[in-house]
Amino acid sequence: MFDDLNDLYQQVIIDHSKSPRNFRRLEAATRTAQGHNPLCGDNIALYLEMDGDVIKDIGFQGSGCAISKASASLLTEAVKGRSKAEVKQMFERVHDLLTKGQTSGGDLGKLEVFAGVHKFPARVKCAMLAWHATLAALDGQDQPVSTE
Ligand code: ZN
Repeated sequence: MFDDLNDLYQQVIIDHSKSPRNFRRLEAATRTAQGHNPLCGDNIALYLEMDGDVIKDIGFQGSGCAISKASASLLTEAVKGRSKAEVKQMFERVHDLLTKGQTSGGDLGKLEVFAGVHKFPARVKCAMLAWHATLAALDGQDQPVSTE
């Protein structure tokens, strides 16, 4: 399915989908959000523990395809210790990466493994789901977010 993604990127995505990082419910969560991607059937529950405006800890649970799980796993590593404003900037850059295959500013580190996803438009929503859920949690949005 992902013949166009290079091998290294595939390995990172497979690793994170099989052994997702921070895959747990946070008992100390101060914010939570639910996300759903009906096109693929991906579901996520996201937990944030905030320290003021900064994400002190993050966890997620859910089920879905390899891309959605790997994206959520890599997201948790990328946003821990970041402020709400920083995460919103990352959201925009990740969206550019997923839809155009490149970002306008700054290095996204490990998240750049998703650059190849722009060749598979149906998968963009899988990869964005955790990002939408994170923003919803940061904004204190109570309604579940849907990619549709
Ligand atoms: Zn999916």
